[in-house]
Amino acid sequence: MKPHLEISGVTKFYDAFRAVDDVSFAASPGEIVALLGPSGCGKTTLLNVIAGFLKIDAGAISVDGRDLSRVPPHRRDMGMVFQNYALFPHMTVEKNVAFGLKMRGVSRKEIGQRTQEALEMVQLGHVGQRYPKELSGGQQQRVALARALVVRPSVLLLDEPLSNLDALLRKTMREEMRQILKKAGITTILVTHDQEEALVTADSIILMTAGRVEQMATPSELYERPRTVFCARFMDVTNLFEGRVVGKEAGFSVVDTPLGRLQAEGCLSEVGQAVTIAIRPENLSVAANDGENRVRGVIVRESYHGAVRRLDVEVGGCMIVAHVPVRRCVKGVGEELELSWPADRTRILPDEAGERSSAPSSPRAVAAE
Ligand code: ADP
Ligand code: MG
Repeated sequence: MKPHLEISGVTKFYDAFRAVDDVSFAASPGEIVALLGPSGCGKTTLLNVIAGFLKIDAGAISVDGRDLSRVPPHRRDMGMVFQNYALFPHMTVEKNVAFGLKMRGVSRKEIGQRTQEALEMVQLGHVGQRYPKELSGGQQQRVALARALVVRPSVLLLDEPLSNLDALLRKTMREEMRQILKKAGITTILVTHDQEEALVTADSIILMTAGRVEQMATPSELYERPRTVFCARFMDVTNLFEGRVVGKEAGFSVVDTPLGRLQAEGCLSEVGQAVTIAIRPENLSVAANDGENRVRGVIVRESYHGAVRRLDVEVGGCMIVAHVPVRRCVKGVGEELELSWPADRTRILPDEAGERSSAPSSPRAVAAE
C-alpha cells in the first residue's frame, strides 16, 4: 500500500542537543503507529515536529506525497490531542466538539449534524449539554478524541492520551480508542511510554531511544523478536546473559553462557562471536523436557503475581527468572528444580558491550546508557 504519512530523515535540535535524530518511517492509510520509548527519548518532540509546532532541522514530512515541512500547523490538516485534553472548561461538550468546525466556517446545520455524529462515535451522544467538569476522566478523554475527529483531519496525533486516567480505566480505554480510530479509518500517530498500551492499540510500533528509532515492528514481532538488548529490556525480557557462539546446527546456534551450553534460535552470529542471550520468563517451564534447553538450580525467592508465580532461581551463580502458572509450581524456596525451554524461544542478540566498543565515540551509545 502507498504510504499516507512519510517521515524521512527527520532531525530536531534544541540548541546543540539532538532531541530527534534522523528518524524515518511511513504509515499507510488508516494505520495506527505507536511512538514508544522511555521518558525523554524524543517522542513529544517528534510529534510536535510532525504537527508543525516545532521547526524541522533536517529531513522531510509528507502526506500523500505532498511535502509539508514548510507548511504552518493550521494548514497541515492534522488533528492533535494533547496529554491534558485541553478542553474549554466554560463550553459545553457540544460546543467543545463543534469549535473546530465553527472556526472553519462550516454551516450551522452541518455543524449540528457532524458534532452529533462525532459524539455518537465515542458513545457520548447523550452528554452534549454538559460541561467538561461534569464528566469522568474517561469521558473527557473521549470528548477530546471527538473534537479532534470531527474536523476529519487526514492524520491524528495523540500525545499520551490515556496518561491522566487511572490504571483500570486506561485498560478499557485503550481498547475502546483502538475501535474508535479503526472505525474512523484515520491514520494515527500515538505517543506512549507504556509498552502494553502500544501492544494493544497499535498496528505497528516504533521503539525509540535517545532520539533514534531502535526498532520498528508489529506488536507481536517487537514482543517476540526484539532486535537489540535495549528493545528486549524495554519489552520486559528479564533474562539476559552474555554468551559466545561455539557452533551451529540445523537452524540453531550453540552458545556457551554462564548457565551452561544452550541452543538458540537463528544463525545471525558467527562461531566465536560474543552475543547476548535473551529468554522471556514465561517461556521457562518447570515441567521436564519442555525444550532443548535445560538447567538445574535452586529457588531463592518466590512471589505471587495472580496469574503466575515468579521464581528466582540460582543456576551456577547466575539468577534466572521464571514465570510459571500458579497451579503448576509445586516447589518452594530452597528446593532444587529443573527448568526447560525450547531453542526457538531463545533469542540471540548482538552483544551490547561489543556494540559499544565498536563505536566508542557514538553519541547514541553514550546517551542510551
Ligand atoms: P518524550 O516525549 O519522549 O518524553 P521529549 O520529546 O519531551 O521526550 O524530550 C526529548 C528531550 O528533549 C529530553 O531530553 C528533553 O529534556 C529535551 N527537551 C524537550 N523540550 C525541550 C525544550 N523546549 N528545550 C530544550 N530541551 C528540550
Ligand atoms: Mg512526552
